[in-house]
Amino acid sequence: MADDPPARRRLPGLMATTSSPRTTSVRRSTAEQLAPVLRAHADIQDVCAPVVDVAAAHRRIAGGQVAYEALGVVRSCGDLSAQFARVLESFEVAGLVSNADRVALLDGDVDVDDLVCGWFRGDRAPSAARRRIARMGAIVIGNAVVRAATARVGTSSRWASWSRVICPACGGAPDIALIERGQRFLVCSCCDAQWRSPHSGCLGCDAVDSPTGIARIGNPALGYDLMMCNSCGRFLKERPRRGLGSLLVERTITAELDVAAEQRGLRI
Ligand SMILES: [Zn+2]
Ligand SMILES: [Zn+2]
Repeated sequence: MADDPPARRRLPGLMATTSSPRTTSVRRSTAEQLAPVLRAHADIQDVCAPVVDVAAAHRRIAGGQVAYEALGVVRSCGDLSAQFARVLESFEVAGLVSNADRVALLDGDVDVDDLVCGWFRGDRAPSAARRRIARMGAIVIGNAVVRAATARVGTSSRWASWSRVICPACGGAPDIALIERGQRFLVCSCCDAQWRSPHSGCLGCDAVDSPTGIARIGNPALGYDLMMCNSCGRFLKERPRRGLGSLLVERTITAELDVAAEQRGLRI
């Protein structure tokens, strides 16, 4: 049964990709293109220093509460404008933004903190192209910051007995399910934490694969199944755990699945 109101969030896929008959070639070429962004993402995780009360986080998880409050953790990192400049630079090198747009965004009135917090709150993505780039940059920063915060809380053994649908670390909604030896693990769309799924069917209502429950559409080119619930309107992308690449790359190559689901009015 659904025990948590799911947060609605734009997922951190960075661009629309075209399908390829070869999963590995899509993954490899996307990872190559995003290499500058992945470096910036890793650097931000190294330097952002989010403040997490680790002992309190462990007590909260043991009591069934999420480890930390994501917005407070983001704010504990202070001014994020240097990180924003770093990410925009990586976007330009990766060919995701023009030099003119990058300069305009740096000279403009972008409130990075507000954009990052807006992503956590589930604000809708802006429609203007330049604002969308700013939002993409904020997602890379936000994901790096909460990844670093979750790493401080511990490894997945810390939440081995977690039985909720929301992320045990940050409270985010899962967007990807990973199957390994008959077990299903969920991946947080915000901080990338993984935990054992309490359900094998829909995360919102526990419906199972059936014409009236979950519709499952396989995408062999990407190596994912898109699972859409006809009962409660949630969707999830599922794949084998083996061979999982960088989640930034995984979300980028599967962005078209998110768009297809969202166009049907579904949410994670
Ligand atoms: Zn999380
Ligand atoms: Zn459902």
